[in-house]
Amino acid sequence: MDRSQLFLDEVFLSLQGEGLEVGRPHLFVRCGGCPLRCNYCDTPRSWKQRDQFDVFFAHGSTTRANPLSQMDLHKVLEEVLASYDLKPADVMLAVTGGEPLLQAEFLADWLPQWSGSVLLETAGILALQLESVISEVQLLSLDWKLPDTLRSGEELLATEACLDLARAAKCTTQVKLVLTETNSLEQVSTALKTIAEKLPEAVVFLQPVTPFANGPLPPKADQLLTWSLHNRALSLDLRVLPQVHPLLGVR
Ligand code: SF4
Repeated sequence: MDRSQLFLDEVFLSLQGEGLEVGRPHLFVRCGGCPLRCNYCDTPRSWKQRDQFDVFFAHGSTTRANPLSQMDLHKVLEEVLASYDLKPADVMLAVTGGEPLLQAEFLADWLPQWSGSVLLETAGILALQLESVISEVQLLSLDWKLPDTLRSGEELLATEACLDLARAAKCTTQVKLVLTETNSLEQVSTALKTIAEKLPEAVVFLQPVTPFANGPLPPKADQLLTWSLHNRALSLDLRVLPQVHPLLGVR
């Protein structure tokens, strides 16, 4: 991949709907391309790198051509912020996907030039690439993919190596487990034990899947309670939190 070019899926400003930053406005940069296939994926369009991406302003939207140069990216982000009368330091930049670390070389070159703070969301599949950008990240959002939520790509998971890197870099980290009704206590327990061993300071979010047509169903309330109580012996900072942006009716 050419490290001077970035493929995007969309750029928009919205309220953060997950994790520690929930409820705060973020400038979202959704990168194109993902090799995983989660059964709960709400952004399947981002699986492929396309010729165009969408940009949403305070009033109206447009499409622009992929790929972008560093200067192109800077310009489009400043345009979106300016449409809300904002500057880079006013909101956190949420770099998400797709899987942003597929384009880590571009990000490693570009992120040091961004003056605002950065949240990086990753599925935890590219540990070496994470190492190349983690010093530029203020909040790492790392997914823990439970086995039966992945249709393909399980062999790519490097979640434990990513936890090790986050610990070595002293990077504030949240770990998100998207949960469906078919997950078991054993699966959740294994994940929590590993997180407690590798990165006990992580904040862990048990996130019941947001239901959609033909998608997996969320766990029952008693499952969520049982799984969260299982954390007692581990003393992780663990919270059950659904996605909030669908409730708010924002992107
Ligand atoms: S890692 Fe993210 S973008 Fe990729 S399939 Fe899973 S949910 Fe979708």
